[in-house]
Amino acid sequence: MQNIVKENVADIFGSKVFNSGVMRKRLPKHIYASLLKTMKEDLPLEENVAEVVANAMMDWALEQGATHFTHWFQPMTGITAEKHDAFINPTEEGKVMMEFSGKELVKGEPDASSFPSGGLRATFEARGYTAWDPTSYAFIKGTTLCIPTIFCSYSGEVLDKKTPLLRSMEALNHHALRVLKLFGKTDVKKVTTTAGAEQEYFLIEREMFKKRKDLILTGRTLFGAKPPKGQEMETHYFGRIRGRVSNYMADLDKELWMLGIASKTRHNEVAPAQHELAPIFTNTNVATDNNQLIMEFMQRVAYRHDLACLLHEKPFAGVNGSGKHNNFSISTNTGENLLNPGDNPAENMQFLLFLCAIIEAVNTYSEMIRINVANAGNDHRLGANEAPPAIVSIFLGEQLTAALKSIETGKPVKEAKDLVLEMGVSTLPKLIMDATDRNRTSPFAFTGNRFEHRMLGSNQSIAGPNITLNTIVADVLGKFADVLEKADDFDAALIELLRKSVKENKNIVFNGDNYTEEWVVEAKRRGLPNLRTTPEALSHFTSEKNVKLFERHNIFTPAEMDSRYEIHLEEYSKTINIEALTMISLAKREISPAVVTYTKEVCDTLLAKKACGGSIDLSAEETLAERLSKGFGDFIKSIDSLEEILEGAQNGETPQDEANYYCTEVIPAMTALRVIADDLETMVAEKYWPFPVYEDILFYV
Ligand code: ADP
Ligand code: MG
Repeated sequence: MQNIVKENVADIFGSKVFNSGVMRKRLPKHIYASLLKTMKEDLPLEENVAEVVANAMMDWALEQGATHFTHWFQPMTGITAEKHDAFINPTEEGKVMMEFSGKELVKGEPDASSFPSGGLRATFEARGYTAWDPTSYAFIKGTTLCIPTIFCSYSGEVLDKKTPLLRSMEALNHHALRVLKLFGKTDVKKVTTTAGAEQEYFLIEREMFKKRKDLILTGRTLFGAKPPKGQEMETHYFGRIRGRVSNYMADLDKELWMLGIASKTRHNEVAPAQHELAPIFTNTNVATDNNQLIMEFMQRVAYRHDLACLLHEKPFAGVNGSGKHNNFSISTNTGENLLNPGDNPAENMQFLLFLCAIIEAVNTYSEMIRINVANAGNDHRLGANEAPPAIVSIFLGEQLTAALKSIETGKPVKEAKDLVLEMGVSTLPKLIMDATDRNRTSPFAFTGNRFEHRMLGSNQSIAGPNITLNTIVADVLGKFADVLEKADDFDAALIELLRKSVKENKNIVFNGDNYTEEWVVEAKRRGLPNLRTTPEALSHFTSEKNVKLFERHNIFTPAEMDSRYEIHLEEYSKTINIEALTMISLAKREISPAVVTYTKEVCDTLLAKKACGGSIDLSAEETLAERLSKGFGDFIKSIDSLEEILEGAQNGETPQDEANYYCTEVIPAMTALRVIADDLETMVAEKYWPFPVYEDILFYV
């Protein structure tokens, strides 16, 4: 058995990371102290410090077998980018020396012209900048030292996902500190958001993967009839993890542990061949980097085991898709989780303030929450009775809902079983969290000491949703602080503030089943947006409210917002276009010949039987030939129709028009073609069908 952990886990954990332990050992004391300060308090790095750090980093990396370094960044493609440079520097004697300067560590100048910029950067200004983010540790991947960096254009426009994430964390830090000060917490120096991303994925046989061009080119199957067995037996969820998969998981965990990623939980998911991995949460910046690495290593390690890891949101129609749960909380450098309900009234008031701020933020900017999880793949999930709906709502559970009602009415509320809340102006509720209070259908659920944002697609970076969460919560905290800083009577002002906030935002709280049709109707009555598709969601991206929000907190300029809007629309249109073209190609070049050959075999049999003469029954062959020919006729018409509709796709005046067209015209034509093809699949003999079908793929590993 290859690569199974034989080493002591504690020994290998973080062995490929230039973490603070390594720094402390390898850096002079004052340099280490200066770097630590930079990391903890987000201060700029001094030049002489960078030089020494670079040297130590290279020495360490060389000992680990590294030959190259790269600035590792996260452009708008949603995946990571890297360009490797060797440490070598030629000497006069025709040899090389290994070198890595402070300048090379701190700044890079990659050509940015081929990354999406949404019209922000003219091609003649091809230069982009990458700059070291010392708050995320450098690490070694293969033979390359990877340095996490931000990425911007020559003139400073943001071209990546890390810069705005760091800025949003800073905005939240700023306003949360203002609030904590009002509660007398002057010892708190820094507030950070934390994230734990549960990652779902499919594992299939690599041989099967290679035979399906749709999986190779688009990440999902564009054809495939429902198999005789799906997920209805409910045996897979938390089921025994079979040997092959178990070996894969062990190997993956080992790789992640060496990278200092605390992969903690692994289990089988609902659909056959579907699994989940969850790491222990950490600060959002590092969690975002880690999630990118988790996705990358899931695929790499799969390759090694002759498997393929599918991260698409909906690789197979008719079985569950894959999502990603973004667990979100806020904590202080003194170790306090601000979403932990306290066990005395004063602590609870602070908790309730943060809770109400999040509720108000999500209610005010619910379109943005929806926008951040909108992509072509996730459109197959949201609202499809397997994932939360496209309507954003918040689950709080019985007790907290009662507590908020008590704040709103100023009266004790006796609603939750065995619970009397004493809620007056100065006597406040003692909250006991009920761990059983869990609602799996909610898109945004309070789960005891954090929120679980469940709308994310498996494939997407968690940066976007967290940029929004941090910014909107910072915004409301700032608003609260503005009011409270001026108050003469803090307690009274706080109650009044929360009362108003609860009253105006309780609409977004929903503790029922989000999968029902009644909720869709009820949400409409409450005036909550229901943005069903990506183009519909994106059409709200640059609303005045959103542009002003991000500008106010220096996260994005209006021009940067415009560019992101365009990038997301284009990404959507390109995705559907590639899917449609792949369908057409498979339909014409693989499925059509199969149907023709099989039909010929049926007709040959028919003719042969006929030639025998007599009273041989020909009805079976006749019926089959007839059905195949009718289906095939419809199939060819459907291909023609999809091609024709696709030609009209380039005519949109704006990127939004184009995306709308893909959504309302192209997708229905793709669906129509698929229905016919899937029907043909059930008629054509297995040996003629050109690629593996669902049951071959899903139940193989
Ligand atoms: P479940 O499937 O029941 O939701 P998991 O154990 O699979 O639970 O995942 C829970 C995730 O939430 C883990 O990644 C965990 O580290 C994370 N988490 C726990 N506490 C916090 C917190 N304070 N902030 C952010 N994430 C958290
Ligand atoms: Mg889980």
